[in-house]
Amino acid sequence: MNPVETTSTPDTQNTNETESVKLIGLTPKAEEIIAYCARVSNPQNQDNPKISNLLTYCVKNGHWSIFEQASMVLEIVTSRGIAPQILRHRSFSFQEFSQRYAAANSYVGYQPRRQDLKNRQNSVDDLDTQTKDWFQQAQSEVWELAYTKYQQALEKGIAKECARFLLPLNTQTRLYMNGTVRSWIHYIELRTGHGTQLEHMQIANKCKQIFCEQLPTVAQSLGWLPPPAS
Ligand SMILES: Cc1cc2nc3c(=O)[nH]c(=O)nc-3n(C[C@H](O)[C@H](O)[C@H](O)COP(=O)(O)OP(=O)(O)OC[C@H]3O[C@@H](n4cnc5c(N)ncnc54)[C@H](O)[C@@H]3O)c2cc1C
Repeated sequence: MNPVETTSTPDTQNTNETESVKLIGLTPKAEEIIAYCARVSNPQNQDNPKISNLLTYCVKNGHWSIFEQASMVLEIVTSRGIAPQILRHRSFSFQEFSQRYAAANSYVGYQPRRQDLKNRQNSVDDLDTQTKDWFQQAQSEVWELAYTKYQQALEKGIAKECARFLLPLNTQTRLYMNGTVRSWIHYIELRTGHGTQLEHMQIANKCKQIFCEQLPTVAQSLGWLPPPAS
């Protein structure tokens, strides 16, 4: 399989270059299979190539199970701080880079935001440049120190599974996330919405872009793309 680079552009200046999402695999003829299975009770019509209205009907009426007939695998490069939020989506199957097997070697640099004092799970992007620069510098210094000590630990023969306790939460990691189209719909709906941490929202938006490229009729039925010109 040839991974396909997402062509998404950063949606805010907070997006950094070290996080990415790529398509790894998708059920062939995914949309056709979803529609074919949805018409199980109408065998004479199962090969009908017109599927747009059918999929829109299913979305509107919460007929979600038909979207379990096809699956997509994406590669997500992010940090150990964001990965646990993604891994909570229990209907997906995951593979994650093992820090017990291979050595970690880079970090994701993040822009800071101000703590919202009313909503403890929210942050506001209005910090001054000096504070932002301080945070960038702090991340760099912490990484330099942590990574130096990590390498020293490995040189002393300390196991990777132990040495990794020296690494910060912004250490880069890579996940393969495999889920049905149904799971992707609900993951994207939830994680591109308010309430999700910005860094996770940016990843979910990249997932959404790939979803829209690969499953345009489903995306239209969800209102994620404009309806086809009639
Ligand atoms: C803002 C926010 C704050 C959170 N805070 C915490 C916290 O403090 N502590 C904590 O432990 N966890 C927290 N979580 C994680 C949350 O509780 C879930 O564990 C996480 O979102 C995974 O969702 P899920 O279990 O639905 O898994 P998923 O794998 O996303 O979904 C499970 C199944 O439900 C289906 N499904 C999901 N949504 C719908 C829907 N709308 N309609 C129909 N079917 C649906 C999916 O298709 C799938 O089949 C938070 C999540 C968010 C978004």
